[in-house]
Amino acid sequence: MRRAILTLCVLGAVGFAGWQGLTHPKTPLPDHWNPLTPLNVAAPVTPFTGMKLRGALTDGALCATVTAPAAQLTQLEDRVVSDQCGIVDRVSLSAVGDSQITPVETRCQIALRMAMWEVHSLQPAALAHLGEPLSRIDHMSSYSCRPIRTTGGKGQRMSTHSTADAIDIAGFVTQSGRRITLLEGWSGTPDEAAFLRAARDGACDWFRTVLGPEYNRLHADHFHLQNVGWGTCR
Ligand SMILES: [Zn+2]
Repeated sequence: MRRAILTLCVLGAVGFAGWQGLTHPKTPLPDHWNPLTPLNVAAPVTPFTGMKLRGALTDGALCATVTAPAAQLTQLEDRVVSDQCGIVDRVSLSAVGDSQITPVETRCQIALRMAMWEVHSLQPAALAHLGEPLSRIDHMSSYSCRPIRTTGGKGQRMSTHSTADAIDIAGFVTQSGRRITLLEGWSGTPDEAAFLRAARDGACDWFRTVLGPEYNRLHADHFHLQNVGWGTCR
């Protein structure tokens, strides 16, 4: 019994010393392996990334702080339009990672998810399938005070675009100027089709809801990427 306790104490001490060693100021634990530091968008993905991302997504000020180094964004005052429409944690976004975006007003949460998607999914997919990096992401809109659209017409509920909790992405442009649209590329050349499917699958890692051409004909020309939802990925 005594021996067991002694062993536990020794193991505990070694573990503590090991942790201390790793977090010693002179040999710091890399931020992406340290659960206590805020998210760094550009850092490699680790088991702590999801937790750090959730932390930044629930705190508007922290969201802007961690997104800024990996994006071009300007923080704006919340926009209140009505009970159902407006933008909380509003930013103007004009680039994520190495990709330019036509300036769009959206929530910081969308900007942060876009940045994670660009760095960790889109650029690797572009290199793998298109052989070159992206320089541009083409969006259709984020904020729009309107009901949801269904294949049967206008729905009863308001769209998540009413609070800028969504953004619609129509295509991409590579560094050499090659343009890939969902409308033509989804069923286009094998490399474009593979890139767009990888882009969709990657979006599912960073957004809560992703609807694309496989969802319905209303999404034949764009990915609908949402900050809210329960994991729909189609
Ligand atoms: Zn949409």
